[in-house]
Amino acid sequence: MAESFIHRPAAFLDRDGTLIVERDFLGDPDGVQILPGVPEAIRLLNAWGYWVIGVSNQSGIARGYYGAKEVEAVNERVIETLAKENAYLNRIYYCPHLPEISIAHNEPECDCRKPATGMIENAKRDYPIDLAGSFVAGDRVADVGLAHNARLPGLLVLTGYGLRESELFGEHDAPDVIADDLLAAVRWFGRKMGFPDIP
Ligand SMILES: [Mg+2]
Ligand SMILES: [Zn+2]
Repeated sequence: MAESFIHRPAAFLDRDGTLIVERDFLGDPDGVQILPGVPEAIRLLNAWGYWVIGVSNQSGIARGYYGAKEVEAVNERVIETLAKENAYLNRIYYCPHLPEISIAHNEPECDCRKPATGMIENAKRDYPIDLAGSFVAGDRVADVGLAHNARLPGLLVLTGYGLRESELFGEHDAPDVIADDLLAAVRWFGRKMGFPDIP
């Protein structure tokens, strides 16, 4: 049986403030700076057999700050930079929309801007993903909202906007864990699942 047909769980990871330094509307690949611990975190996920999928709101496209080409160049740089450290990210999905702009153009709101689950649904179409055992990690309320809308654990990291955003949760929408960074979040998840820590 081809290995690619075996369903595996996925780690859905926010990009800005979680994988790379938050730059507020990054359209230049040279602005990509991987956050500390991220290669280690992804190597753990690789060792556990997870799909590693980026999910990123990029309303800078709707706002006219940059185009899809720039976002894709940034995403490519993230994937290449991590691969040089033997950390393999399968793909980064992005939402180019912004509700205010859609409404102004008499278009319906999209279903992919986090916390909506469209990017997870697209990833499920493209990869044999088993949602059992999957999770979402990110630095914002919308990332935890995405997790809970998809009925997955939501891990908040304190990098990026995480510290500020950690103040914004109520008792019903709180993250499953608040971790210092992606590596701490992934290690917490691994302990919960009984996975080995060192690949
Ligand atoms: Mg973020
Ligand atoms: Zn969208």
